[in-house]
Amino acid sequence: MVEDGREHKVAIVTGAARGIGLATARWFLQRQWRVAIIDKDAPALNAARDQLEWEAPGRAIALPCDVSNPVQVEAMVAMVDTEWERIDALVNNAGVAVFKPLVQTSFEEWRHVMATNLDGAFLCSQAVVPVMRKRGGAIVNIASISGLRASTLRVAYGTSKAALIHFTRQQAVELAGLGIRSNAIAPGPVETAMAKQVHTPEIRADYHAAVPLARYGSEEEIANGIGFLCSPEASYITGQVLAVDGGFDAAGVGLP
Ligand code: NAD
Repeated sequence: MVEDGREHKVAIVTGAARGIGLATARWFLQRQWRVAIIDKDAPALNAARDQLEWEAPGRAIALPCDVSNPVQVEAMVAMVDTEWERIDALVNNAGVAVFKPLVQTSFEEWRHVMATNLDGAFLCSQAVVPVMRKRGGAIVNIASISGLRASTLRVAYGTSKAALIHFTRQQAVELAGLGIRSNAIAPGPVETAMAKQVHTPEIRADYHAAVPLARYGSEEEIANGIGFLCSPEASYITGQVLAVDGGFDAAGVGLP
């Protein structure tokens, strides 16, 4: 990788104003990529951009965008294409969580989760393909262990993530001929704003009991998995789900 001008690789990371997305943007910047950070929370996004500008001057741009809005997604990808004329990686990380039982989940909450977690990945993937196919590239969809195993309270969230995993496989098969790989990461519990919002003390205790490493993962540990799947070291890996989960899936203990 040449480290000047247009030879820097380019990544788009959605939901990158904070949490796993921001850590992933840093993973790319530390390896001399250029990064477009995307989020619908414009003030938080601009604050993140200011931090990244200080850490990696001139290599990050911030584009406010709601990934569930087709018009905004098209405009966002067009801006990245205009700016850098290439897209080597797309990380569909933007997500929301509603942890409620079926009968207490409103249709609006169900639609909000599906629109963000599933429609957002569909729209962003569809929009980048015409640019990414020029050189090949990698798409990584951020799923969850809740998309691998069923448990209470995750009817909307878990269903959206299970669908995202199958979407990943569909993409991998369809886009292989264009030189585009597609993989998913299934994080275990990670200490982010999302976890603070939906992980009650009871849920935290359940995770500690079910995760063999007996702790939450860090944002950076998830970013390492995402970055690997976008890197040339993963050039023969497509259609896979990498669980970065402290052994949760292997143990098969499950959650209530
Ligand atoms: P977070 O809530 O800290 O960050 C998510 C970001 O996505 C926020 O900045 C938010 O503004 C943004 N966002 C939400 N809806 C958006 C939209 N429509 N358009 C653009 N941006 C939007 O969450 P996190 O914990 O960093 O989670 C990142 C991803 O990892 C999510 O997909 C989440 O489901 C997944 N995940 C998280 C955990 C965990 O324990 N934290 C576990 C498994 C999977």
